[in-house]
Amino acid sequence: MVETYTHDVIVVGGGAAGLRAAIAAVESDPQISVAMVSKVYPMRSHTVSAEGGAAAVAREDDTLEMHAYDTVKGSDFLADQHTVEYFVEEAPKELTRLEHWGCPWSRNDDGSVATRAFGGMTTKRTWYATDKVGFHMLHSLFQHSMRFERIVRYDENFVTQLVIDDGAVRGVAAIDMRTGEMRLFRGRAVVLATGGAGKCFPFTTNGNIKTGDGMALAYRAGVGLKDMEFVQYHPTGLPGTGILITEATRGEGGYLRNADGERFLVERDYGVGQKAELGPRDMISRAIIQEIEAGRGIKGRYGEFVHLDLTHLGEDKIDSRLPFVRELGRTYVGVDPVREPLPIRPVVHYMMGGVDTDIDGATSIPGLYAAGECASVSINGANRLGSNSLTECLVFGARAGANAVRHAAGSAEGDEARARQQVEDEGARIESLRGRKKGGERIAAIRHEMQSSMESGCGVYREQGPADETCRTLAQLKGRYADLGLDDESKVFNTELIAALELGNMLEIAEAVAVAAAKRQESRGGHARRDFATRDDESFLFHQVVHRDAAGPRLERKDVRITRWQPEERKY
Ligand SMILES: Cc1cc2nc3c(=O)[nH]c(=O)nc-3n(C[C@H](O)[C@H](O)[C@H](O)COP(=O)(O)OP(=O)(O)OC[C@H]3O[C@@H](n4cnc5c(N)ncnc54)[C@H](O)[C@@H]3O)c2cc1C
Repeated sequence: MVETYTHDVIVVGGGAAGLRAAIAAVESDPQISVAMVSKVYPMRSHTVSAEGGAAAVAREDDTLEMHAYDTVKGSDFLADQHTVEYFVEEAPKELTRLEHWGCPWSRNDDGSVATRAFGGMTTKRTWYATDKVGFHMLHSLFQHSMRFERIVRYDENFVTQLVIDDGAVRGVAAIDMRTGEMRLFRGRAVVLATGGAGKCFPFTTNGNIKTGDGMALAYRAGVGLKDMEFVQYHPTGLPGTGILITEATRGEGGYLRNADGERFLVERDYGVGQKAELGPRDMISRAIIQEIEAGRGIKGRYGEFVHLDLTHLGEDKIDSRLPFVRELGRTYVGVDPVREPLPIRPVVHYMMGGVDTDIDGATSIPGLYAAGECASVSINGANRLGSNSLTECLVFGARAGANAVRHAAGSAEGDEARARQQVEDEGARIESLRGRKKGGERIAAIRHEMQSSMESGCGVYREQGPADETCRTLAQLKGRYADLGLDDESKVFNTELIAALELGNMLEIAEAVAVAAAKRQESRGGHARRDFATRDDESFLFHQVVHRDAAGPRLERKDVRITRWQPEERKY
């Protein structure tokens, strides 16, 4: 039995982007009703774990132009510049609005908003709320969203398919995880705000729920995925768990040291110049790998690492600005950063790529929008600057939400019977998976092979041979996935079934990443090829968009929009 719920706009995801989109939708039209469908309770979205801050011009010594230029340069000139210009203009307005909704930004003594330094930014422009920024931002958004009865939440509903009819999106199919029953959420516009896909890799800061579901939903429905080869490694993750130690540690003055105690970013030329520890993430991650390869790493139980030294900052500063970092160090590696340096190594953190959208968040399917980490609206290009992403969720979440309403107002509902039929067919597919004992393949085995293959072919450094090998492995794994065996036949909270669906999504996304990485024979931003070590604007100054064809992934080129800043060598 398919239960049907009808709203004007369906938002998939309750993180920063989804909540902002839902609020913008109801605020832009007093009649509109929004369904917010999320596989977890909104406060459990990955946004909650953000530590460092959100970027927006706030100080007198800063300008919108500087923020835009830093972002474009950080992107290694692959961002669409008209989008970046809009982003920096809206950023201060969005962060101020969030304060009015209750976000407790940290303050200077004179009462003005405090800002901290972040990698690749020329001046202090990262707003923060100690080092629990994501928690406070998400909480403010969630609380504000509850003022609107017209935002109806469907928590713990897992979306498995987009309902497309007559060439336009008509809603989504979802499993109510509590009962195992299928549901049809009908709407005249859908906003995907499902976050990133770090779980395609073995070692990541990302929560277990970041499995690229929304990207896979759009990809299967025929929308292209853009800039997928660009995966951000954050330089400072804790070995073993991958737990993030925020860049704010370096913003507040922390040092990176090798086994000899040297500040290698100062001692050797890694392209970060005077910025040293405040260089961008791609460059610092590569510097750490090079130090380890040169024999200057420190050996540990989980491989080699380097040190993040905060001891010179003093207990007061650490406790007031970085209390969470102290807690994480003590709890997860038994190191108190007030007294000893923390062990760290590069870790998969963020997907620059995602669902190909325009500046409005619109995709190639009428009525389908995307925003936040699952989208590629194209402000991040080949490398995102830390603290731009939370702001991106607000700026483009709001824009996508408002545009979804505009679209909904001018379009028909679509045929209900046909929409139901699609959900029934999807339900039958899922039913055939549940407790299907016959297959010989295990979820954990395929996931493990996918993750290690992604690390070898699409890691910090890439090369043709291993990247091609990863493409072949992923194609085989997709074949093996068809023979998956599941044990749990129950309907109520069948987490094995959900894990199987998530694995299917990750295999699609991993393949898109690998295929795009194998094809881009140059080094740009987060994509560093050992065999093509320099950037090649003549041959590769374009976005790659991956399409899912019957024969496999197909790549298309898309122009980069350049408005004011011509590509130049990226050095700091
Ligand atoms: C540890 C960590 C620290 C970070 N720190 C910072 C920082 O300091 N500054 C910064 O700018 N950025 C930071 N980032 C990045 C930033 O937090 C994320 O990019 C951003 O929060 C993503 O928000 P989102 O709304 O796009 O997605 P998320 O917050 O990931 O939310 C995704 C939502 O989609 C829902 N969903 C997913 N799949 C489905 C499905 N199949 N069906 C139904 N619902 C689904 C989930 O339930 C969830 O509600 C950090 C990231 C991490 C991992």
